[in-house]
Amino acid sequence: MGKSTTGKGEDSTLLAVDDMRAAARRSRQNGDEEPRLGGRQADPAALRAARPIPEPQPLTTHGPARVLALCNQKGGVGKTTSTINLGAALTEYGRRVLLVDFDPQGALSVGLGVQPHQLDRTIYDVLMESAVTLDDVLLKTNVPGMDLVPSNIDLSAAEVQLVNEVAREQTLARALTPALPDYDLVLIDCQPSLGLLTVNALTAADGVVIPLECEFFSLRGVALLIDTIEKIRERLNPRLHIEGILATMYDSRTVHGREVFARVVEAFDDTVFDTVITRTVRFPETTVAGEPITTWAPSSSGAQQYRALAKEVLAR
Ligand code: ADP
Ligand code: MG
Repeated sequence: MGKSTTGKGEDSTLLAVDDMRAAARRSRQNGDEEPRLGGRQADPAALRAARPIPEPQPLTTHGPARVLALCNQKGGVGKTTSTINLGAALTEYGRRVLLVDFDPQGALSVGLGVQPHQLDRTIYDVLMESAVTLDDVLLKTNVPGMDLVPSNIDLSAAEVQLVNEVAREQTLARALTPALPDYDLVLIDCQPSLGLLTVNALTAADGVVIPLECEFFSLRGVALLIDTIEKIRERLNPRLHIEGILATMYDSRTVHGREVFARVVEAFDDTVFDTVITRTVRFPETTVAGEPITTWAPSSSGAQQYRALAKEVLAR
């Protein structure tokens, strides 16, 4: 699946928002005070999670890497958390993974225990100076098989400086090309905007993973994001497709969470990963710890969910 982006996304998303607004009004008129559910009503996420996912085949050789951009112009939806934990989970299946921090905030680097402001050279230098290669800035992480290209606030200048470059949208793709034979997957953690850096990430990518928080307002930006992806596919990168929409911060106990998830599935169907990431305080903890949940709390539901996501990504 996923070779083309979904065509019905935009209309369905808008419809979903209208429907949900009407449902919320009805609920208020009926005086429904308690928006929490017990286990009586079917949990739409549990139904999908029950669908089997094939076990990944072991690899005997590595590369060339498939490049995935984790992208959503909304902040705080789980892009960085998903990049770290999907990456770590993929290494458990013997995959070599390169994580690219492509957000000047450097949260991906911090989440892996790196102090980005102390770095002399980052992805910024790779983009701006042809003499600096990925190898010059690459860091090993504490997860065997997973490397990191860090970033820091310097990268915010690239957005402005790249504007005057020839083939400015292909700068990241060019920089990544020499590394592709060494890895099985490259995951790019995008910044929360649809600016030139994100366009670079989408031009370098084969697929887009869209983390989507299970909240009402999250649906609004998705149509614009899909529109952007389609434009980039037409104009810059014919390989680009939506790898999948990942529901994050899911809370099955609330009507709201269940409804948003059901609407997302209604609108995007099998583009939505069966794996759903539930809301748990374990994720903020891992950021403080500077390591993935798969090593911080290996048997937690969060770790298991990212392992299931890794299997799904390898099956797609
Ligand atoms: P983004 O990169 O899209 O801005 P992050 O991955 O940084 O989003 O997540 C935003 C915040 O939410 C972080 O503090 C993170 O620890 C937290 N978070 C991410 N996923 C979850 C989750 N499933 N449950 C609870 N908190 C989460
Ligand atoms: Mg982030």
